[in-house]
Amino acid sequence: MIPLSCAQIAEAVGGELAGVDPAAIVDGSVERDSRAITAGGLFLAFAGANVDGHDYVPAVTAAGATVSITTRPVDGSPCIVVADVQTAVGELARYVISQLPDLTVIGLTGSQGKTSTKDLIAQLLAPYGPTVAAAGSMNNEIGHPLTSLKADLTTRFLVAEMGARHVGDITYLCRITPPKVGLVLNVGHSHIGEFGSQDAIAAAKGEMIEAVLAGGTAVLNADDPRVAAMADRTSENVVFWGEAPEATVRANGVELDALGRAGFTLELGGEQHAVQLQVVGEHQVANALAAAAAVQAVGLTPAQIAEGLSTATAASKWRMEVTERADGVTIINDAYNANPESMRAALKALVAIGRSRAGQAGAGQSGGGRTWAVLGPMGELGDSHTEEHDAIGRLAVRLDVQRLVVVGEGARPIHLGASLEGSWGNESAYVDSFDEALELLRKELQQGDVVLVKASRFVGLDRLATALLEEA
Ligand code: ATP
Ligand code: MG
Repeated sequence: MIPLSCAQIAEAVGGELAGVDPAAIVDGSVERDSRAITAGGLFLAFAGANVDGHDYVPAVTAAGATVSITTRPVDGSPCIVVADVQTAVGELARYVISQLPDLTVIGLTGSQGKTSTKDLIAQLLAPYGPTVAAAGSMNNEIGHPLTSLKADLTTRFLVAEMGARHVGDITYLCRITPPKVGLVLNVGHSHIGEFGSQDAIAAAKGEMIEAVLAGGTAVLNADDPRVAAMADRTSENVVFWGEAPEATVRANGVELDALGRAGFTLELGGEQHAVQLQVVGEHQVANALAAAAAVQAVGLTPAQIAEGLSTATAASKWRMEVTERADGVTIINDAYNANPESMRAALKALVAIGRSRAGQAGAGQSGGGRTWAVLGPMGELGDSHTEEHDAIGRLAVRLDVQRLVVVGEGARPIHLGASLEGSWGNESAYVDSFDEALELLRKELQQGDVVLVKASRFVGLDRLATALLEEA
């Protein structure tokens, strides 16, 4: 953060100084975790269900924090007292960003792929100027301002992932960091339970496009009709990427390599450049095109973009992490999250990786080289829950995934769908629990097998991936 006096902070957040020297300077980081506070820092005393940040105010004062933002005075500790700490951190971030006229904000949202795309954009931009991006998925009313507060006068780019659970959420976040480039990836099913319909989700995500600054650029997915239609919500520049004819940023001749990573010819700005992604899965092509369009809008050249895309790696965990065990079994950990679109992309990557592994093992070899999909439930699908799970089971059969292991009651329709799609000479098994799945896999896995582990985050199937990785 830029150094600010307590008086400036109090004014920015509309708070009252309590036991503070108004001239005292905050020149350390802003933290909500008392253990992360260092000298000169600012502590946010959030009151959670189990822990009340106010209990830690004396400790952060002892650790050298300049001041804490609280909802009541704390004896012996300098405080700025506000009505609501979350609102205050938003106001503070908004003030800080308004003091950074040379900062360019790239805002992105969508139902899937925000973090993957944010990580690509941040890696593309980093060689061309100091870049701040969220760690992981810090994309809500607390995480977003905390990330924004990491920007200072030296920062050139801020890559802001923005999540939406309600109409108005993105508008709120964009008020903190008005985007020069606003990117919407897709309108899928995530959080449909709360929004009610995909149109309602589109209405919420499109707030990003309305927020694009004068002279800025809206970057839109040409292949998602709800996203493409957002072009009507701005009078600024619009760039489309994808396959539809209006897309000016395109990937031609996409092929997955032996590790499930896409290679293609990137077409943009009237130029063609070869790209070999380092991130896994065909769905990353869309993320790469979106990232390419976004960074072109802030001045990178097509050659710089192609080079950056070919070196960028997955910076956040559990997204299509491919690891080969010592015994020759390959585990694909994609247990971070799941939705119908990402399930489909992950199954395709599994099959591509399986095919190349089988090729390596040589034709005619018995056993091994089989593809396993270990799938748990997808959350937040509302009324379409059964139908969407059923479709995934059927797709696994059509892609000829060799072993399907369906874990947990919520995922059972995957097993039913696979069984109903017909016998494909392979097997679908349903198990109730994580332990049963592990036991089955322990018994059956052979050298050359490739295992995809995927489910929505609440299921915690990453524990299964971790256990499998610790096996051999
Ligand atoms: P969150 O809402 O949890 O922050 P996110 O939008 O940041 O999610 P990622 O973390 O990038 O998304 O990816 C989440 C899941 O979606 C992963 O399992 C990944 O495999 C899949 N995914 C990533 N990009 C796409 C895409 N363009 N289309 C479909 N699925 C995708
Ligand atoms: Mg995310």
